[in-house]
Amino acid sequence: MEQILSDYLHTHSFTHFDLKAVIFDMDGVLYDSMPAHDKSWQQTMDEMGLRHLPHEFYLQEGRIGQSTIDTVFQRNLNRNATDEEVKKIYARKTELFQQYNSGKILPGAAEVLEYVQANGLKPVLVTGSGQPSLLDRLDTHFPGVFTPQTMVTAFDVKQGKPHPEPYLMGLQKGGDLKPNQAIVIENAPLGIKSAVGAGIFTIAVNTGPLPDSVLTEAGASVIFSSMEKLLETMPEILRLTQTISI
Ligand code: CA
Repeated sequence: MEQILSDYLHTHSFTHFDLKAVIFDMDGVLYDSMPAHDKSWQQTMDEMGLRHLPHEFYLQEGRIGQSTIDTVFQRNLNRNATDEEVKKIYARKTELFQQYNSGKILPGAAEVLEYVQANGLKPVLVTGSGQPSLLDRLDTHFPGVFTPQTMVTAFDVKQGKPHPEPYLMGLQKGGDLKPNQAIVIENAPLGIKSAVGAGIFTIAVNTGPLPDSVLTEAGASVIFSSMEKLLETMPEILRLTQTISI
């Protein structure tokens, strides 16, 4: 772990970490919601007669809805979806998601958030989701952890993941932070690209069906198989960020 953190500092020309915030992705990091997202996307596209690829919606995870829809449209119809089509498809996908979503949080997620807060770090949320009543749901499961001032959602950004904008805005919401003042917890390749593009040390938790290599290629510095495994290593990570300097 020490070497991995040192490598990050070297690559980004920082002498040390000055950790103030931990930035969390939501689906597949805090919530066990990706199977329901995947199933809802697949069924929506099947109903439209649009072909999709194996694990496509895991590979596309983190994009805003319109971008995912356009990708499928380009493959099938060689054009982007119209605004009306996007609205209709996203509405159907959202309807199915609400039907399939268990609402379960991932084991270890609440404990990681607690650990972060107990160590004086600010939890920030960066999600490509634009689900209604997002904050209410978060506040039910993780009371008092996130506020509108510490959240970046699909409504806040012009360019979704994999563009760096969501995580750059996450740094702003963390308190106008520099990249060495935060770390990111992500599960999806495009989310990892976004965070790495923003220059932030990025930890992957591989809670889905994609091979680890996809997350490494996207730029993750280290991969854990679950939030529980990450929780076990959090003390070491925080200790090292306070002691390493190059
Ligand atoms: Ca995610």
